[in-house]
Amino acid sequence: MSPKQQIESAAIVIDCRDHGESDSIVTFFCENLGRLTGIAKGAKRSKKRFVNKLEIFSSLRIRHTLPENNRLAFIADAELLDGFLNLREKIPCYTTASVIRELTLQATKEVEGDEDLYPLLIWAFTSLNTGRTPDLALIFFLIRFFSIIGYGPQLSCCQGCGKEILPAENYSFLVASAGICCDKCCQGNPAEKIKLSQGTLRSLSRALIQPLEQLNRLQLSGNSRQEALNFLHAYGRRLFQREIVSWTFLQ
Ligand SMILES: [Zn+2]
Repeated sequence: MSPKQQIESAAIVIDCRDHGESDSIVTFFCENLGRLTGIAKGAKRSKKRFVNKLEIFSSLRIRHTLPENNRLAFIADAELLDGFLNLREKIPCYTTASVIRELTLQATKEVEGDEDLYPLLIWAFTSLNTGRTPDLALIFFLIRFFSIIGYGPQLSCCQGCGKEILPAENYSFLVASAGICCDKCCQGNPAEKIKLSQGTLRSLSRALIQPLEQLNRLQLSGNSRQEALNFLHAYGRRLFQREIVSWTFLQ
């Protein structure tokens, strides 16, 4: 296919910034291509082609070229599929979607297709937009996200003794080694650890294998939510070796 040839992609806007007087540089996460950054010429003037469409979090169908030689793709036009308006209007939804956006930008490279991340993003934004508890959407997104990008934490057996999870045992997540450890093996280990109860571990494991369309059926108690969020936050910071800026704005 010639680089100038235009193709269509389903895409979510994950970043948008002004470029000169009238253009915008937009980063999408596309269904088949993964992350794609392109220039939308005249985006700030063209009422018909782009108005109200290039908003962050919007789901679109775009017509575009493929980027060549590290240059930007050319975005010809866009059709709005879902504006996910609640993500912009409700603060808890916005802050949660912002964490998801920040980590997606952080963890992906241009045009490295990934068939699992696009449906997960659509699931997360749809869940938030339709009133799903933001905490739960974030927890289930993140546990699958880490696995999709190839850095799923080890939650099925103790890193010390190698035993699978035992009903009578307590576990903590060791942040530095990205896995769980039973109380016996943890004793005296000064490394940063976060308690993960059996219920939390079971729910997180289930969230990894549940079909996406059934993920909203999973529930977590308030205590488990807090444990899971603490663990996912610490793990994300450790993985990317930096603070997750938008996490600061979560409750
Ligand atoms: Zn152990």
